[in-house]
Order: sequence, then C-alpha cells, then structure tokens
Amino acid sequence: MSEAAAWHPAPQPVADAALPSRVRVYEVGPRDGLQAEPEILPPEVKTEFARRLAATGLGAVEVTSFVPARWIPQLADAEEVVAGLGPTAGVRQIALVPNLRGFDRALASGIREVAVVASATESFAAANLNTTIEGSLAISEQVIAAAGDADIPVRAYLSMSFGDPWEGPVAHDRVAALAARLHEAGASTVALGDTIGTGTPAHVDRVVELTAAAGVPRERLALHLHDTYGQALGNVQAGLRAGVLEYDSSAGGLGRCPFAKGATGNLATEDLVWLLHGLGIETGIDLEALVRVTQWMSRTLGRPLPSRVATALTAAGVA
Ligand code: MG
Repeated sequence: MSEAAAWHPAPQPVADAALPSRVRVYEVGPRDGLQAEPEILPPEVKTEFARRLAATGLGAVEVTSFVPARWIPQLADAEEVVAGLGPTAGVRQIALVPNLRGFDRALASGIREVAVVASATESFAAANLNTTIEGSLAISEQVIAAAGDADIPVRAYLSMSFGDPWEGPVAHDRVAALAARLHEAGASTVALGDTIGTGTPAHVDRVVELTAAAGVPRERLALHLHDTYGQALGNVQAGLRAGVLEYDSSAGGLGRCPFAKGATGNLATEDLVWLLHGLGIETGIDLEALVRVTQWMSRTLGRPLPSRVATALTAAGVA
C-alpha cells in the first residue's frame, strides 16, 4: 500500500449550477461541542482551540456561552475565554446568552455578536430552558431589543425544529411561524435546529420552504444539523438546494447527543467542508489545517473524535 499512500485524498470538485457558489460554515465546537462533552477543560485550552479554529479560514466561531455555571459547568469560564482570545481579524466571535443577564455579561466581556435559543416544543422549553415556547420567544425578543440598542447582531436558534425526544413529530407550520416571529423581532439569522438529528432531506426542504413562505428570507436562515442518525450531509444538500447559505458544525464532530446516549451529535466541520468543496462551493476553509486542530483536540481529550474525514485524513497521514 506504500504507493497508494502517495495519493493525496481530496474531493474532486464538480459544481452544480443549482447550488450556491459560496456558503458560510458556522463553527460551534468551542460552545456546543465542549458543553456536551464530560471533560471540563481549562480556559486557556478553550482559548487556544478557538484561536486555532479562527486561523483555518472559518468565518464564524461560537466561542462560549454566558450561562450560569450551575447550568453548564463546562462553560463556567466564559469571561476568561473571551479575554484570553482577544480580537480575531475577519472572524466573527459569537457567544450564546440565555437571557438579559447573560447578554450583559457578554457585552461587558467585549463580545460583539450573540446567539439566543427559542424552542419549537413545550417539552424542550420546559426541560432545557425552564420556560414555555412563548416564554422562550419573549426572552429572545428581550435580548434582541437590548442588543439592537448596542448595535449587536443576534442569531436566534429554534431548537427541536425537526423532532422532539419527548413529543416526537414537530408540526412544520409551527416551526415556520416561530421562525418568522424571531425574524420579525430582529434576529440577524434564524438557525433551525435538528437537535436530535431525526430530520431527513425532504423534511428539511419542506420546513425551509414553509419558513421562507412565512416571511423569513432564505439568506437569513441557517441549519444546525446533528448527525445522530447519519442524515446530516443529506440534509445539508437539501438546504443548499433550498437556498440556505449558513451551516453549523463542530470540528471533529465534537459534542455528544444528550438525547441519544453514546451517539454522536453535531455534524463534523471536516465532513461538511469535504461535501461543500466537492460541490465546488467556496468556504474559505483550509481543510487540512482544520484536521490538525481536531487532531490537537483529540490528543487533548485523549480519545478519537467522530469526524469521518478527520479520521480518514489522519490515517492517510496527509494532515
Ligand atoms: Mg448542536
């Protein structure tokens, strides 16, 4: 096999004129990834992770969450992480905020873009946000209003948009209506979350079409897809075809699925980038540099991460 090793594995791009020529990859590893992993890493390691990610050509990195430490002990050091990171030229740094108190902390830390979470189901709202669907909308609207005064863009997640572990199916038109309210409130982007990963391509297409029909411009939509059931890349293709230009992922596939014990959660950034580059879609990301960041995080955690592309490129010795 020594001769085979001379080939440098890479996608052979074939562009599809029906798809966008460039999309944004929104990296969630430092926040959504690390909050779902059991280890609590020191703040300087999280800062280094975000810094290395920002150097790969990613345009946006969600760096932490200003949640109370008793909710998510993994992210209790948000101020330290942001202070340690400092500015990253050309790379958006976003912090999740659960409410106005979290927004004030984020603003004081120097963060200039935040994300909020609303729920498409009552069960998730009660279990994870300690409120109702309407309550989650109201809190999001409060943050969006306060952020508007400070000229801070707010990305709004709508969790459980494609299925709920307690309620099962989620009504497509309810998702569309809630997304439209977040848009009307002033969210810069509405990210539809497949929080348990049960969505499939035609389902994604249907929800995106209904959401667009409800008044959310496609260029203001993002998809936050989980690969728990192996559907994430198919769902990305459905999103591309429907005109969605922003996709969430985590380096290495960092972050487990809290609703399916032992299963993977976030779509891996390397797998997403391989697909996009194979479709001739520009991302600005250096894939091999990204794999080296994942290798570093894998060594830091002392175990492999689930990304298929990172695993294969590492085995091939090219990154
Ligand atoms: Mg996630």
